[in-house]
Amino acid sequence: MTKVLETDVLVIGGGAAGTNAALKAADRGAQVAIVVKGLLGKSGCSIFAAFTPYFTKTDEQARRNRWRFMIRYYNHYLADQEYCARMEDYMCEEFYPDLERLGVYWRRDAQGNLEMINARNRSLVAHKQGATGPILLEKRRREIQRRALPLYEECAVTSLLGDGERVAGATVLDYRTGEFFAIRAKNVVLATGHSDYLATRATGTREQSADGLAMALRAGAELANLEIQWWHVSDVLAPKSWMRYHLYPNPLMGTLETSRLYNSAGEMFYEQKTHSPGASAPYTEQLRRLCLQVQAGKARWDGGYTSGYDHIPGDIIRAYQHQAKVWGKLGLDVARDRIECGITMHMRHGGLNVDTRTMATTVPGLYAAGGLGCHYLGGFGPASYDGKVAGEAAAEDALRRALPRLPQQALEAEAARVFGFLQADAAGPRPMQAKLRVRQIMWDLGYIKNEKNMQAALAALQEVREQSVPRLRLQSASRVWNTGWLDALDTCSMLDACEATVRSGLNRKESRGPFYREDYPYVDNEHWLCRNIVARVDGEWRSRQQKIEVPHLPPEKNREPFFEADY
Ligand SMILES: Cc1cc2nc3c(=O)[nH]c(=O)nc-3n(C[C@H](O)[C@H](O)[C@H](O)COP(=O)(O)OP(=O)(O)OC[C@H]3O[C@@H](n4cnc5c(N)ncnc54)[C@H](O)[C@@H]3O)c2cc1C
Repeated sequence: MTKVLETDVLVIGGGAAGTNAALKAADRGAQVAIVVKGLLGKSGCSIFAAFTPYFTKTDEQARRNRWRFMIRYYNHYLADQEYCARMEDYMCEEFYPDLERLGVYWRRDAQGNLEMINARNRSLVAHKQGATGPILLEKRRREIQRRALPLYEECAVTSLLGDGERVAGATVLDYRTGEFFAIRAKNVVLATGHSDYLATRATGTREQSADGLAMALRAGAELANLEIQWWHVSDVLAPKSWMRYHLYPNPLMGTLETSRLYNSAGEMFYEQKTHSPGASAPYTEQLRRLCLQVQAGKARWDGGYTSGYDHIPGDIIRAYQHQAKVWGKLGLDVARDRIECGITMHMRHGGLNVDTRTMATTVPGLYAAGGLGCHYLGGFGPASYDGKVAGEAAAEDALRRALPRLPQQALEAEAARVFGFLQADAAGPRPMQAKLRVRQIMWDLGYIKNEKNMQAALAALQEVREQSVPRLRLQSASRVWNTGWLDALDTCSMLDACEATVRSGLNRKESRGPFYREDYPYVDNEHWLCRNIVARVDGEWRSRQQKIEVPHLPPEKNREPFFEADY
């Protein structure tokens, strides 16, 4: 008999969104339980946040710059603009003081003034650029521990459970012990993030296998704009385990200079302050310029180009940049040497289709917070705001309703699925091989897309689903710390998320932001300024478009060639 726990609000995920959702739901008086596949505040991509944008309403020019950045460069006009206005209020009024109350010290100058990154879009860092995320999350982790909120770490949620009308809880695998249990909840907040380890090189961490997207898809939720998948350009090529070490191209602390990208001939082909001064996260523009270098044979997607700060005094980089350590550890000098880079699959703009006033998804009882949503690319601050909105809405609603019935049949079916993978065989094939194959398929699909290569990726994913998954065998059938077991479950999530992403890409007949289709090489604001939605209902894929309103900042052109657009 599977153990069943009960709570008002179940929060899944322990990053910027999940931690804030849990704290804010508890503030509203709801009983909260938190399940985290990694460690609370130490897993997911929130720990990589280098800096947080500084929002202001008192300086009108700074505010206009930030709006243009948010809507145009960061979200390619796909953001929910009314959400941006509400998020701006939160950032101006609540975000910084909230964290200061928990003990965060923002970097200050000798007079005690907040030290800013002095660019068109101002930002703050906690201590050093590159070290902000861990500091902020450590404070939230301690606060959750201090309040003794029920917390299940190193426990993976494997499925959402519904009673036919609404989500009624979730199943959990504690992979430290192999215990499988369920949590019955009045409302569930999914906050599993948007940087998944879905390509050979990715900024997502091992536990990020797109479980949130896959579980929501299986529960019948709508997903939107999944194809708007960012890539980092200036990430360390070798050693491979450092592939998510980002050599920031963004405006830097302590200098007006920004890093540069050089091709294999040593020619500089990108720097933020020159090529995209209005953007403070200029990755899509870096990509376009790298693409031209690759096509000219002067770089590869996996190397053959370098990045560096050697035109900036070394003392400044060492004082303000956590990343200076990378050079030290490789035995290089940040004031002199450049590092070879490769692209890495990064955050995703798209995700669950949500109503941004509550973060409710299209499935009753299910809320989505943070990077997992489809309304804004993300960032530590916006993900925290989403957590607050979802946590409060889920709590207020939960306090008004009774616990839903937990569907016993679905619970037993999920237990059978999970334990079905716990079979050892010396011959394999191993789940890790299947995961590597999925990553390879998405890496091969890469940045330059067309109908043919997306159809080929779909067929290759289908082959893994049909040929490999049913034959997966583990090295051991132990229930304790059996990472192969978890890998098998991860493979299923990855396949669902990747298939949905490719299908969504096939539906979008234009190019935009990080999404480049060489068979539709133009930005088409007339037809594609929309949430491009996919869902799987009773095994059938469905799609539809939902128009995006642009009340504050409409695009200037209806249509323009992709390589001439700067967003
Ligand atoms: C390399 C990198 C650099 C970045 N730099 C910046 C920056 O400088 N400034 C900035 O503002 N933003 C930055 N971002 C973006 C920012 O970090 C994210 O937008 C934001 O932190 C997302 O938070 P989240 O809570 O939605 O997801 P995450 O922080 O990814 O958290 C997801 C959580 O879900 C858990 N989880 C996953 N699957 C399951 C499951 N099945 N069961 C239970 N738990 C699960 C994970 O363990 C994790 O705890 C960066 C992101 C990356 C990847």
